[in-house]
Amino acid sequence: MSTATATAARAPAPPTAPFGTVFARRMAITWHRGGSWGPSELRDTGPIPMHPGAHVLHYSSACFEGLKAFRHPDGKARVFRLDRHVARMCQSARLLCLPPPDPAQLEAMVLDVVRECRDEIPAFPGALYLRPTLIGTEVNIGAAGTPPSEVCLYVLASPVGDYFGAGLQPVRVAVEDEHPRTTADFGMAKAGANYASALRHVMQARAEHEAATVLFCPGGDVQETGASNFMLLDDQRLVTKPLSGAFLHGVTRDSVLRLAAHLGYTVEERDFTVDEMLDWCGRGEAALSGTAAVLAGVGTLIHHGREVQVGGGQVGPNTRRLREALTAIQSGEAEDPFGWLREV
Ligand SMILES: *Cc1c(COP(=O)(O)O)cnc(C)c1O
Repeated sequence: MSTATATAARAPAPPTAPFGTVFARRMAITWHRGGSWGPSELRDTGPIPMHPGAHVLHYSSACFEGLKAFRHPDGKARVFRLDRHVARMCQSARLLCLPPPDPAQLEAMVLDVVRECRDEIPAFPGALYLRPTLIGTEVNIGAAGTPPSEVCLYVLASPVGDYFGAGLQPVRVAVEDEHPRTTADFGMAKAGANYASALRHVMQARAEHEAATVLFCPGGDVQETGASNFMLLDDQRLVTKPLSGAFLHGVTRDSVLRLAAHLGYTVEERDFTVDEMLDWCGRGEAALSGTAAVLAGVGTLIHHGREVQVGGGQVGPNTRRLREALTAIQSGEAEDPFGWLREV
């Protein structure tokens, strides 16, 4: 047996516990103090001592990233679009007036954690989900109007299975056409505060309609859901909102758009309304994109209490096709024509 096969054979089974509740043994951590980043270190995953007056606990000085490392048939581990996630974390930090991580240091921290935890990476479609996190740790409850002078950056890792279990369950989505998810220029920050601001709308949709998530369409402008981007598909076209400050610039969104163009779809990045979406869904497909869920088909939209079936209530063929094209690259089964995977 070759070394590679031996490594592949040792892949642990994907955890059956809910997404994000199981952690790998090791994490990387560093602090920004006195104007510069200190060296990062690897530690056992566990509590970070923090004063109850820490800035993040009062003024939400926090942002994060979510990306995946995969175990490949050749026995190697590879991280998906690391450079993009690092760049986005720096952008989120700037929007929060926090010191952006040093990109080279953050890349090294992610790669170190993957290397340390490589035998904890489950076989595909499982993955090691990586969660770089940036928080303000200065102890000062008077600093509501100033950024924290001390900031902590850490990279947590969590072995995960397939987000939707079977992978291809159609999702129920409630359409919110009044309230935005967050403020008009802060949606592109991957900040915990944005989830807090969206939560009551998500809870209400869950209670009233058993919806899995909410599609935020303030003033009728279709934007994104609580934690994923949104797109319309049919046999020829993919339509999604153009990048703006209002919503999160998903790496999966970008990957699906590039794959769709590569496969011959016409990609239209343009604004569209709830009315156009409902009309489209009578014949076409709708999907949610994100690192955790990859590309999930929408089966039902709930609009003003009325249920609208999307593509007959099933996950459509174009959604499946694009999902499979992306997962084939991630799993190492297909070529990586765009150079998205970084060997660890
Ligand atoms: C993380 C996130 C996404 C998806 O981004 P990916 O880079 O594809 O994982 C979309 N919307 C929101 C609000 C998010 O937080």
